[in-house]
Amino acid sequence: MSPTPRPSALQAEYRIPRERMVERLRDYYGIRDPKVLDAVGLVPRHFFVSEALRGRAYGDHALPIDFNQTISQPFIVARMTELLELDKKSRVLEIGAGSGYQTAVLAQLAAQVYAIERIGELAREAHARIRELGIYDATVKAFDGTLGWNAHAPYDGILVAAGGPQVPDPLIAQLKTGGRLVIPIGETRESQKLVRALKTESGYKLEEYGPCQFVPLIGQHGWR
Ligand code: SAH
Repeated sequence: MSPTPRPSALQAEYRIPRERMVERLRDYYGIRDPKVLDAVGLVPRHFFVSEALRGRAYGDHALPIDFNQTISQPFIVARMTELLELDKKSRVLEIGAGSGYQTAVLAQLAAQVYAIERIGELAREAHARIRELGIYDATVKAFDGTLGWNAHAPYDGILVAAGGPQVPDPLIAQLKTGGRLVIPIGETRESQKLVRALKTESGYKLEEYGPCQFVPLIGQHGWR
């Protein structure tokens, strides 16, 4: 096995395509939050895909990862992150860590990220990648994320990177009042709309952010 490259060396690779990606997010997709743009400009996305796909890591599309899952399109990652409105004191729950890319982006912006991935091998690999990048304020565990992660609740933000039939109740319960939950919701497994739930004293308010396509959220409060 070849030795793991140092984080700084990884950041030096693909610098130009990464800068182009950030410009596209800002100028074409209208991502405005400079902290979000800085975060995606820092994380070496190519490190999260297989070697054969590295050259395409900064393109305007999702890419396959192992176990038939996908790493979301850069725009979707940036949009969902922006909608969470995080700051350096935020505690974040992420469901569907996949490759760990979104986890690494969230870790640039928050105090602590708790990430869940239902496929054990993906969770282990994602966790290892995050550590190799020198990120210690994020952790990835394998279980059904539709149940949330009560031990670390309440959260300022919750990001679900897989599409479910409804907003899972345990996730609302684990959100702070004033907290934000971003999730793709759809009546079929194949297509969804991106929604944001804002927790209020008495329940939550839903906002819609247009159509999107995610892999299914599978679990007790997702698809069976
Ligand atoms: N954000 C990821 C991509 C997510 S793909 C990245 O940056 O790479 C969606 C992931 O959600 C898949 O890996 C899938 O296994 C996972 N998933 C689906 N249902 C889940 C559940 N109930 N709990 C945790 N993870 C789940």
